[in-house]
Amino acid sequence: MIPLFETGQPLKFGLDGLIPAIVQDPGTRSVLMLGYMNQQAIDLTRSTGFVTFFSRSKNRLWKKGEESGNVLHAKEMRGDCDGDALLVLASPAGPTCHTGTDTCWAEANEPSAISFLTTLEQVIESRIESGDDSSTSLPSYLSSKLPKNLHNFFVFPPIPKL
Ligand SMILES: [Zn+2]
Repeated sequence: MIPLFETGQPLKFGLDGLIPAIVQDPGTRSVLMLGYMNQQAIDLTRSTGFVTFFSRSKNRLWKKGEESGNVLHAKEMRGDCDGDALLVLASPAGPTCHTGTDTCWAEANEPSAISFLTTLEQVIESRIESGDDSSTSLPSYLSSKLPKNLHNFFVFPPIPKL
């Protein structure tokens, strides 16, 4: 079950039974798209793990990517402070927008320097939590996550074997 966190007020739906849902890629932090959900769409997203909206144009439940295959894999949902908007953290299987671009704002969904630091922070936190103090695989792992335009600014020396 995908977790749904309320950060403030309980969820409030509009008169049409819908609540706006902003989709963000948890890896790159790019904002991918905006959709609308009713209670059933929220329940389906949480139980199936596939982001499902209520499409106002189709006037029915709509699993994102049901035709294109470009589904969104939900990780977490959060209500906002007022409970009148949802943030859906989800990893895209392909370009999110029906026009073929990665996001509905015609942006490429690429790792940024900020997302690299977020990844670094998560790696360090998970290693502290798991008590894993081996660092041999970290440089190559991190260099694979570093945005290409920043590669020239870093050197990743091999870790000597002890
Ligand atoms: Zn779009």
